[in-house]
Amino acid sequence: MRGTLLYGPGDIRVEERPDPKIEQPTDAVIRLVATCVCGSDLWPYRGADKVEQPMPMGHEYAGVVEEVGSEVSAIRPGQFVVGSFFASDNTCEICRAGYQSSCVHREPVGAIGTQAQYARIPLADGTLVATPETPSDDLVPSLLAASDVLGTGWFAAVAAEAGPGKTVAVVGDGAVGLLGVLAARQLGAERIVIFSRHESRQQLAREYGATDIVVERGDEGVARIEDLTNGLGAHSVIEAVGTQESMMQAIRATRPGGHVGYVGVSHDVALPGEELFFSHVHLHGGPAPVRRFLPELIDLICRREIDPGKVFDLDLPLQQAAEGYRAMDERRAIKTLLRP
Ligand SMILES: [Zn+2]
Repeated sequence: MRGTLLYGPGDIRVEERPDPKIEQPTDAVIRLVATCVCGSDLWPYRGADKVEQPMPMGHEYAGVVEEVGSEVSAIRPGQFVVGSFFASDNTCEICRAGYQSSCVHREPVGAIGTQAQYARIPLADGTLVATPETPSDDLVPSLLAASDVLGTGWFAAVAAEAGPGKTVAVVGDGAVGLLGVLAARQLGAERIVIFSRHESRQQLAREYGATDIVVERGDEGVARIEDLTNGLGAHSVIEAVGTQESMMQAIRATRPGGHVGYVGVSHDVALPGEELFFSHVHLHGGPAPVRRFLPELIDLICRREIDPGKVFDLDLPLQQAAEGYRAMDERRAIKTLLRP
């Protein structure tokens, strides 16, 4: 099969890779209908994470089940399925509490690499969620978005306790931040403010329910949030970047007693203890337990109540993955969908 490999900073190639096989009786093999490039794929692409040997890429996936292992019972060949970036049994105590991305048996799907024609998905019964029927083609981008960016934005909004009567601020105008806006709207937030300087992203944020746009960053951005909230700060802040600046902007934009939902993959963030102590802010986040939300998100998409697939503004054949990465790296594209 064809699959994407990262050889080093900026060096993405689509090459022949071994066809995946059932290795464990709990595995499934799926044929990818759609896959995509994640904002977090840009960290190794930009050289922030060291690449020792050619590394399979991709952890977002939607596709059709080809084959299942002997112990798989709920998932069957022919089903259209969506799963998340950590395989999980969905039965252990941590999974049952709703934290499938910390499942005691979790396996990172990123190590398998789903920017490919086929992928082996471990713990298929726990990991995969089948759609009620084979979806029409126009729903595929939205179902793919549920695999990570929508589920992650949704978790951030839930962790930030977005809801009726709340003012929600969103730090980060990438796909996750934009879908955090969508999630906050669905959860009933009254006012949704996004920090963004990009015209096309501002426009999509408004379509998804943003009521206010703030172009300033850092402490100036925080001051704009205070202007909008009688000096108090937002009730709920979604952090969808993962840098020191974005994390402090999120904490400082939150009112005492408010909540930060942080889902940007943390890179060299160090929190000042004393400031945190006196902030009275709740912090909750981490790798989103997307599996918790998948059944609900798939239902909303199949009923066409939400359209998260609009975050894909570049649609390429898998063979052109390198251009898909470049476009996101240069911020010419919000998110690249790849067709195997
Ligand atoms: Zn588990």
